[in-house]
Amino acid sequence: MGTWVGVKKQIGNWYEIDTAGNSGFISKNDVSSDMGLKVFFIDVGQGDAILIEIGKIRILIDGGEDSSLKNYLTKSHFQYLLSKEKKLHFDYVIITHFDSDHYSGLTDIINDSRFTFGTIYHNGIARFTSDKKIRPKKYNTDLGETIKTGKIQYLKTSFDNLNTLGNLKSNHGLQNNFYSFVKALETAQSQGRLVDTLRLTNKVSFPIINIPNHKFKIEVLGPVLINNNFVWFKDSSKTRNGHSVVLKLIYDDVSILFCGDMNELSEQHLLNNYKGNTVIFESDVIKASHHGSPDFGIDFLNAVKPKAAVISSGDNESYSHPSADRLGCLGKYSVSIKPVIFATELARSINRSGKIQFGMINLRSNGKDIYLAQMKEVATDVNIWDSYLVNMNTGTTKAIKLIKAKKSIKTNKSSRKSKP
Ligand SMILES: [Zn+2]
Repeated sequence: MGTWVGVKKQIGNWYEIDTAGNSGFISKNDVSSDMGLKVFFIDVGQGDAILIEIGKIRILIDGGEDSSLKNYLTKSHFQYLLSKEKKLHFDYVIITHFDSDHYSGLTDIINDSRFTFGTIYHNGIARFTSDKKIRPKKYNTDLGETIKTGKIQYLKTSFDNLNTLGNLKSNHGLQNNFYSFVKALETAQSQGRLVDTLRLTNKVSFPIINIPNHKFKIEVLGPVLINNNFVWFKDSSKTRNGHSVVLKLIYDDVSILFCGDMNELSEQHLLNNYKGNTVIFESDVIKASHHGSPDFGIDFLNAVKPKAAVISSGDNESYSHPSADRLGCLGKYSVSIKPVIFATELARSINRSGKIQFGMINLRSNGKDIYLAQMKEVATDVNIWDSYLVNMNTGTTKAIKLIKAKKSIKTNKSSRKSKP
């Protein structure tokens, strides 16, 4: 579902087609002009990078830490378009929070003139140097100034637009990675390749995206600010992770919740804010928060009632993501009889020649059902996907077989009408 094909000719009930990878035949019933919803949970190791394609709109949620996302976009997903010297436009980029494993991989992409951007959204919490002598005196933390009202501590410093960082940039009061990122934004904007950088909170509506014949909506459920301040969650790390941008994507009858790196304290903060309306969190698929860390609560999972879960995590890190108890609870608190949990780390493998096969998790939906799949470690000629159908009515999942288009006897590499 969701793969572009170029129809070369019709033979009875079959089309002879071209795709990015193969030529072959496909039944007429399996071809539609409606591309549906496509979500790619890209394997960037320890980190998040999610590409969403709906109609002609491209949305990125986070960009990982290293060059993995850029490699995937330029050498795989959009390689065909780039080889035709086309610019790659992303309508929206959402950075859930400014931890390196969510945005540092974007710096190189934003600096690359082959890419153009609409709006880059963020949660408004900037990163300052830990050197107290360099950052402004009133900034008592590396996230800025905190204040106490009664017993509650708040982070007061935040930015609606990263252009307003002003003097802090020239004074190098910013943390190094964040400084490089802000410079990249400045360059892209001066070159006319970026429209704006704005803050997303639960008080801001995501732009309306019109998809013909479908209901499509992105709701912003977090971060939740109190009088324009952020609640301080114990320490700097818990505060910046906890106030991740939290998004619920709705496409007709199906929904997906993207949780950034939320933790148990911030889950409770959100549940309190939506008291009496926690049904708002109910979603068919959850992108589990914080790479499946053990810092999560049962109340939030009970509110989400997921049918399936996706975890984005990497090997060779010191955190043991995903944690054994998170995996157990994602299954236990799912409303499916046979819950499915996908993880980029579990999908990644090394083939017989010692080459890494990256563990991308694929989601496709027609607005009624959701298909989740990862590539098999060893593919047979006709079946390369390990796939599951998330049934909206029963909440159960079952394995389905996706059959690769049969190769035509004679492939004519004429002009390709399709896009990968
Ligand atoms: Zn993270």
